[in-house]
Amino acid sequence: MSTPRQRSTAYRRNRLTYLKANPNCYYCGDIADTVDHIIALSHGGDELDPKNWRPACRTCNSARGNRTPPTRTSRQW
Ligand SMILES: [Zn+2]
Repeated sequence: MSTPRQRSTAYRRNRLTYLKANPNCYYCGDIADTVDHIIALSHGGDELDPKNWRPACRTCNSARGNRTPPTRTSRQW
């Protein structure tokens, strides 16, 4: 009997638990649905360590990844 490797499954489950405990985006306070890595994986950050995680919404996470500030919707007074 071989044990199935469930690293990505465990990661996903941990991430969901983490987002339940930290439901708001670290950057803008919106609903977080992604986990941002404080130390980027390319810089040696640990993908699976919750200490290296921050809750982020999709907008902020992709904005940070692209190193561009999130675009604001123009106000119409
Ligand atoms: Zn955000």
